[in-house]
Amino acid sequence: MDFRESDELAAHRDAARAWVRANVRPEWVDEQRRSGCHQTPALHERLARDGILAAGWPKEYGGGDVDPDYARAVFDECARTGLHFDGWSTTSMVLHTVLHVGTEEQKRRYLPGALRGEILIALGYSEPDSGSDVAAAKTTAVRDGDAWVVDGQKMFTSTAQVCSHVFVLARTNPDAPKHAGLSLLLVPTDDPGFECRPIHTLGGQVTNATFYSSVRVPGTALIGEVDQGWNAMRVALVYERGVSGPASVDWSLAPDLAAWADGARRPDGTPVLDDPLVAERIGRIAVEEEVSRLLGGWMNWHAAQGGVPGTEGSMRKLYWSESGQRHLADALDVLGAEGLLAPDAPDAPAGGMFEHEFRAAAVTTIYGGASEVLRDIIAERCLGLPRSRPQVKPARPAGTG
Ligand SMILES: Cc1cc2nc3c(=O)[nH]c(=O)nc-3n(C[C@H](O)[C@H](O)[C@H](O)COP(=O)(O)OP(=O)(O)OC[C@H]3O[C@@H](n4cnc5c(N)ncnc54)[C@H](O)[C@@H]3O)c2cc1C
Repeated sequence: MDFRESDELAAHRDAARAWVRANVRPEWVDEQRRSGCHQTPALHERLARDGILAAGWPKEYGGGDVDPDYARAVFDECARTGLHFDGWSTTSMVLHTVLHVGTEEQKRRYLPGALRGEILIALGYSEPDSGSDVAAAKTTAVRDGDAWVVDGQKMFTSTAQVCSHVFVLARTNPDAPKHAGLSLLLVPTDDPGFECRPIHTLGGQVTNATFYSSVRVPGTALIGEVDQGWNAMRVALVYERGVSGPASVDWSLAPDLAAWADGARRPDGTPVLDDPLVAERIGRIAVEEEVSRLLGGWMNWHAAQGGVPGTEGSMRKLYWSESGQRHLADALDVLGAEGLLAPDAPDAPAGGMFEHEFRAAAVTTIYGGASEVLRDIIAERCLGLPRSRPQVKPARPAGTG
């Protein structure tokens, strides 16, 4: 892998900035912060209209001609304005899973619709009693003729309030061992048996508890084989920690912090940036943000070669989330009392971004794979250290003994 930024990438970045200037409205950031919903339908429509959602996907399933590096640059630039697009991130993880384990009919049904911006999918894995131990899910799906009937509750079904579907992990065989009796279903959110209730979080994000009361879905909504959901889910989790997950977007705090420190004055009238301790902290943030960016490039490069970025994604997610939390804590230290000004305060540095992101970053070491779990993965798969828990054998199809 070549770590240098090519002229082509720099040109994509310029074009992406121009796209953001022409298409992104500053009030969308305020709206996301006010509502807590990290998905803006108007932005999504524009990303679909200009082929940015469809970039890099197979042509036969609705993929387009837009260069994936340009598309990535557009997402990066959107994120720099403070916008989130979590609904698209989760949708993209599910689409990767459908590509890996779905039927031809499912690929032709779900991919083109999602790439046109018409299908948006939330993740329904976690439950009140199961998060990291996601295979302990209790929500059930029971076969009824050609259909499945889903009953249960999911926790933290983020962006479900604006999604057309939830990718539900359900128990289809209560008699099989924990990992062997699970299946994945795409459940439409317009079913009368579906209910979505908001959960307000410290970071300002409003996620959801979702409830399923005799929700009936056709047999074609089952993604992958019956009772083989755990294997399909492992594909989805790799993408969640890798190219499509929260860590797929870079943080870039150092330039804003340096600009503030250059303009702000110490009691003696000199710039805050003249304080060597401040300059050193900002320098460290800049270096670590670059390391995180390069780990992201390595992960994307691996995916572009046709690989599934498993351990690469875990490393990047771990480094991105833990260094990001450190950087935001450092930034608040440097900013002093001004750092506590929230986005609605008129004089808040960088529009209150530091205060807001500090709160928002608290969950980044929990969702998409908690740090302790990612460390286990890296220790076992990269360093060859012994497993800390028993090996889970891949589930066998029902009836194979
Ligand atoms: C804002 C937010 C958004 C979310 N969005 C979604 C979503 O869209 N869809 C969805 O399905 N879920 C979502 N989640 C849920 C998230 O994936 C879980 O919170 C996460 O998996 C952790 O599960 P838990 O909360 O039950 O904590 P636990 O699993 O109970 O973890 C508690 C602590 O124990 C540690 N721990 C757990 N297992 C191990 C282990 N094997 N070894 C060492 N330490 C361990 C953890 O690292 C953690 O520190 C979201 C969560 C949050 C906070």
